[in-house]
Amino acid sequence: MDYGRIYEIVNGHTRFYADSLPMIASENITSKFVRRCYLSDLGHRYAEGKVGERYYQGCIFIDEIESSAIALTKELFEAEHANVQPVSGVVANLAVFFALTDPGDKIMAYSVPCGGHISHDRVSAAGLRGLSTLYYPFDNDSFEIDIDATRNIALKEKPKLFVLGTSLILFKQPVEEIKEIADEINARVMFDASHVLGLIAGRQFQKPLKEGADVMTGSTHKTFFGPQRAVILCRRELADVIDRSVFPGVVSNHHLNTLAGYAVSAMEMKIYGEDYARQVIDNARKLAERLHELGLDVVGENRGFTETHQVAVDVSRHGGGEKVAEKLEAAGIILNKNLLPWDSLKDTVNPSGIRMGVQELTRLGMKEPEMEEIAEIIYGVISGKISEKEAGNRVKQLKSEFNTIKYTFEEHLAYEFPEIC
Ligand SMILES: *Cc1c(COP(=O)(O)O)cnc(C)c1O
Repeated sequence: MDYGRIYEIVNGHTRFYADSLPMIASENITSKFVRRCYLSDLGHRYAEGKVGERYYQGCIFIDEIESSAIALTKELFEAEHANVQPVSGVVANLAVFFALTDPGDKIMAYSVPCGGHISHDRVSAAGLRGLSTLYYPFDNDSFEIDIDATRNIALKEKPKLFVLGTSLILFKQPVEEIKEIADEINARVMFDASHVLGLIAGRQFQKPLKEGADVMTGSTHKTFFGPQRAVILCRRELADVIDRSVFPGVVSNHHLNTLAGYAVSAMEMKIYGEDYARQVIDNARKLAERLHELGLDVVGENRGFTETHQVAVDVSRHGGGEKVAEKLEAAGIILNKNLLPWDSLKDTVNPSGIRMGVQELTRLGMKEPEMEEIAEIIYGVISGKISEKEAGNRVKQLKSEFNTIKYTFEEHLAYEFPEIC
């Protein structure tokens, strides 16, 4: 195979996405202003250490970029300290575990079926630090942590760190309540804002640091407008231990081309984040309401379905998450099967749920009327009332009207980048 074939495949991928409805809740699309940075010379360089205290020469311009990224991040999240070096959300979480726990400690987090991320668990970052994870008792009806039961476990087991924030995240997190318990046993609270970072930056979600979280981590590419990397925010007194845990702890070089892209995305968030985040949440609620009206089992009904970019549907009556996600893919709707709190880990292959996010469709300019159309297509495919072919045509038609990137300095085509693929 010659290298040109790879370009063809990349282009095929891009066309596929141009014709589809991308609804994976952990993804988004970056503007050309962010993407320009990826291809720059920065992608070939090293900048270990901190701004002004590098180990290699040649970092004068990089220092300026990283200083701006730090300043913008502190401003967006009203944080005393920001570290912008983690190359991903898992790496950011690993750094926090390295900073705030010792091997053999316990932490408390959500189980994976209740939305927890693998990095909070033994199989990933927490396990690498030698931590064992206790799970919050969870109430399936109210879709929230049982605080009294959590307190009982915590007083007995004395976890060192409480992790809030999840991958299936429909509602605000009980930061104040968990902080009270943490204070009783001298533990700390970490808020993993990977999914909701853009909603927090847009001031349409809770403010975890104000509510008592000691540390907040988050991927910069889910609801936020950035390339794939992550940030850590904390109070001033934790700044040194967090910085040391990032470098030399878990990164050496930290991908300077995406750092520059991140700085640009933070500027977009500062200007457009509020309008965007408001529309994201309105869109998610509209999508959930319409799916519910049509007769699907949308999760979280008694709490209004969602306060984020996400919507979850229990499709166990329709063959389960695996089959439904595949059928929707055939119609050009890209989302994922998902465990729900009433599933066990054994159901991972065919869980009861599907999870979808509207952040990327919102970035492409979709609003409530499009959410209604999408709900009708999804319902049609799941119920078998519309063929996948017909649904696919409706998807293509709808998508062809929404192929520019909004909430950026200058709206531009989303899929036409001759020089980039
Ligand atoms: C996505 C996610 C992560 C991991 O982020 P990556 O950037 O993919 O490493 C961590 N925590 C939560 C809650 C997530 O949803």
